[in-house]
Amino acid sequence: MKLSFHGGVRGVTGSCFLLETEKSKVLIDCGMHQGERESKEWNFDDFNFDPKAIDAVVVTHAHYDHTGRVPLLVKKGFTGKIFMTAPTKALSEIILEDAVHVMAENAKRNGDEVLFDLTDVTKMLSQTVGINYHTKFSPATGVSAMFHDAGHILGSAFVTIEIENKKFLFSGDIGNQEIPILPETEKIQSADFVIAESTYGNRDHESTDQRKKKLILAITQVINRGGTLIIPAFSIERTQELLYEIDGLVDEGLMLEVPIYLDSPLAIKATEIYRHYKHYLRFDRPILKSPDHDFFTFPRLKETLNVDASKAINDHHGPKIIIAGSGMMTGGRVMHHLKRYLSDKKSGVLIIGYQGEGTLGRKIFNGAKTVDIHGDEIEIHAQISAIGAFSAHADRNKMAHWLVPVEGEIKKVFLVHGDQDVKIDFKKFLQKKIKSEIIIPEFWQVFEL
Ligand SMILES: [Zn+2]
Repeated sequence: MKLSFHGGVRGVTGSCFLLETEKSKVLIDCGMHQGERESKEWNFDDFNFDPKAIDAVVVTHAHYDHTGRVPLLVKKGFTGKIFMTAPTKALSEIILEDAVHVMAENAKRNGDEVLFDLTDVTKMLSQTVGINYHTKFSPATGVSAMFHDAGHILGSAFVTIEIENKKFLFSGDIGNQEIPILPETEKIQSADFVIAESTYGNRDHESTDQRKKKLILAITQVINRGGTLIIPAFSIERTQELLYEIDGLVDEGLMLEVPIYLDSPLAIKATEIYRHYKHYLRFDRPILKSPDHDFFTFPRLKETLNVDASKAINDHHGPKIIIAGSGMMTGGRVMHHLKRYLSDKKSGVLIIGYQGEGTLGRKIFNGAKTVDIHGDEIEIHAQISAIGAFSAHADRNKMAHWLVPVEGEIKKVFLVHGDQDVKIDFKKFLQKKIKSEIIIPEFWQVFEL
């Protein structure tokens, strides 16, 4: 049987892997390439397989770099079933609809080509089946699969797939330790071949205790100066964790009395889905403080769903906090706020997530003195800070620990979903910790297993 790599091997995005036997072809994830300079073009490339010949798609979680090209696959003739957990289905729907909206805007503004439209997303959702964790399902003839909680975002899974007496495990993305609202990543029971993410394969995150201290520090420094603190946040998960964390600070009387704007329609919709699927989450304090007050809401939080409400944020001249997407500062409402406040030395930007190579976020994180936003050169005088512990991804120690199964040993570990230099460092790190053969696959490389 064959395992081939169709994405997630040139950087941290575009995950797409194909498992095939003579009887069946199953695709695991089919994500969009993001961030890298050439990535826009890669998304338009033909698949290196016939979409009509694929029997099924198994999706690990809702992030766009794991789901983004599934509607394109459907558009190009894939008619099989798509398997994912129920919360992943709900989150994928709003993420893909948002993507269609952004593509339509870009088409209008720059004449960009559109990859897929709402019809393709609707068709994709009609082919999608929601599967619970720990429920065996058969995506194709002779193939048995099961989802396990990856603790990365709501509904996220790593998936075990058994074919011809061989057990494969696709990590999807593996969550950080002690994320307040998510269960811990499940252990690997046993596996022959693991396809493992490597996002933070060369990093150790600070502890969650430091995360809270740093958050308080970042907020108070900027607010006490009378500035605006911009927190570029990924709409799914990071925003909800941040709301939960700020709600905790409010409870403890540690939060300064300033308005906090949640300026992201996608994040506002996602938070509703988090509420709906709260039984998938884990909390260290009661979910409801009063019948109409849960931990995603607190005094002075203002949700700005429409454009007018978003623009009205500018009318508030005092100190404030703005949480807005996109997380890597590649588009969305955060761009307007950055344009306005980056040059203000009283203000600040707090980075709480991975910044992909080539993104505006990476430039700001790396200490650029000026950046280009919508064609204007903006000098950076605002204070730039970062908290790694908010990362939604495991660090190298957690990954090394996780890659030791309860039973037996993994034969081969394929490192994907990481920058090239990080994967090389991670390989060296893992070689000292585990006995498995470690492989860094190339794009389109095929392994006979
Ligand atoms: Zn992810």
